[in-house]
Amino acid sequence: MKFNTKVIHGGQHPEATTGAVMTPIYQTSTYAQTSPGKPFHEDYEYARTTNPTRTALENALASIENGERGLAFSSGLAATDCLIRMFKSGDEIITMDDLYGGTYRMFTNIFKDSGIKFHFVEMNDLDTFESLINENTKLVWIETPTNPLMKLVDIAKIAKITKKHNLLFAVDNTFATPYLQKPLDLGADVVMHSATKYLGGHSDLIAGALVTKDPELGKKLHFKQFATGAILGPMDSFLVLRGIKTLHLRMQRHCENGQKVAEFLEKHAKIKTVYYPGLPSHPSHELAKKQMKDFGGMVTFNFKSGELKDAISFLEKLQLFTLAESLGGVESLANHPINMSHASVPVAKRLEVDITDDLIRLSVGIEDIDDLLEDLAQALK
Ligand SMILES: *Cc1c(COP(=O)(O)O)cnc(C)c1O
Repeated sequence: MKFNTKVIHGGQHPEATTGAVMTPIYQTSTYAQTSPGKPFHEDYEYARTTNPTRTALENALASIENGERGLAFSSGLAATDCLIRMFKSGDEIITMDDLYGGTYRMFTNIFKDSGIKFHFVEMNDLDTFESLINENTKLVWIETPTNPLMKLVDIAKIAKITKKHNLLFAVDNTFATPYLQKPLDLGADVVMHSATKYLGGHSDLIAGALVTKDPELGKKLHFKQFATGAILGPMDSFLVLRGIKTLHLRMQRHCENGQKVAEFLEKHAKIKTVYYPGLPSHPSHELAKKQMKDFGGMVTFNFKSGELKDAISFLEKLQLFTLAESLGGVESLANHPINMSHASVPVAKRLEVDITDDLIRLSVGIEDIDDLLEDLAQALK
């Protein structure tokens, strides 16, 4: 199946008893047994372990990422937490210096006393990255494009290094989605998603996912998930599955609108830098053309003035773009990283990676592009 077919049919079957085309919402915590320890259906005993609605979503996730096993979690961070629980005191993890704020907070705060050592590096400097690898290194964790600065990393090049050193390699694919790039095909072992964003696509739920190529690794992660409990409920599983069915259509429009918004901003007299991989001025534009099918709907920019007050005034004047956390829904959102998504990153750390006071991140939705550009123009006046 091609991708646009997989989003609709991948891993899906009519329901066994009625032939319902859509997997129903199995709102149950438990399943009958015919004799002690003999469940009515061999796959279902208790819903923390398995639920048919979640199973349908997990099969769809595996299908669209070209993986073998999908797991659906109660949030993106719960998915990340489950993966990091694979490691123990003394292990080392190499990750990037530009990460989603919540991931950074988990690595530096929640796992601070775990004995797991995290290295935050500029992943495009492959020599420095490789020089950090030692016998304790177990995992490499990346995001591409990154949040909020839209930095790209060459997934295939990193995979070559992680394979050589026998390390696990995980990619947070939230921004790109499998419509734009498939990390498992490029050599990664695990894909993570905040399904809250583009996979769900309608800003109506919180959900996360892990997808693995290796079924054995999938099994180990499922054990951790079932034994710690951060599963996705049946209603939200149904909604994410429904969202995935239009992922290709939504992403196509997000990309078209994102490109136009980026071009508009780049020409505007008040704007200094636009961070968008679809612009020839983006430092990784060539890599983006190679690694991604298109360039997505996330656009970040700053002001020539460099002034906080210009950013605030712009955000307050927006009419159609809603000033709100999150991204990836059908509606356009605007975010002020220093006060919102990246407020948990220490000031010195964020200035090191250019998350300045006047930086703004847009999640460009799928509304009419003329209305979106008009809103941006009036707010910039
Ligand atoms: C939102 C987000 C997360 C965290 O996911 P939640 O569903 O909010 O827990 C992780 N990574 C990226 C890139 C995100 O945008």
